[in-house]
Amino acid sequence: MLNLILPPEVVNTLLVALRKADKCEVGGILMAEHIGPNEFKVSEITVHRLGGIASFIRRIEDAIGKLRFFFNRTDHDYRRFNYLGEWHSHPLFEPFPSTTDDMSMLQIVQDESVGANFAVLLIVKLNPNGQLVGSAHTYLPKGGRARSTIIFGDQNSI
Ligand SMILES: [Zn+2]
Repeated sequence: MLNLILPPEVVNTLLVALRKADKCEVGGILMAEHIGPNEFKVSEITVHRLGGIASFIRRIEDAIGKLRFFFNRTDHDYRRFNYLGEWHSHPLFEPFPSTTDDMSMLQIVQDESVGANFAVLLIVKLNPNGQLVGSAHTYLPKGGRARSTIIFGDQNSI
């Protein structure tokens, strides 16, 4: 139902973050450009080490700063450029949403202060060849999730 385009520079950021984090989980938020019917191109992501309350607060503060910068840069054109969702890595298991992931995403999409009609969860990991693999799901406020398609930028150029 939704195509998520990861341009080469975003793929590169994810690869660097995953290599650096090794067996630790990393994640952040996705900011995207709405480029066509059900088609979103990720323009920026934040990267945080997950776990612990201190890192959670830093993550929020950094995300707010980065969102503000993103909205300024994109001229507050919220219909075209906006918060799309979350991403994180599953370094040690399959890149599919866990029950906890489903519950957190439902909370985000049902949070009226976020005001999202939907939110995307991107889960990534490195395959044995060191390439990025993953899954994307779209969550709706009424509950449930739908599998989305990830279109990767060219990883061979990196
Ligand atoms: Zn997860």
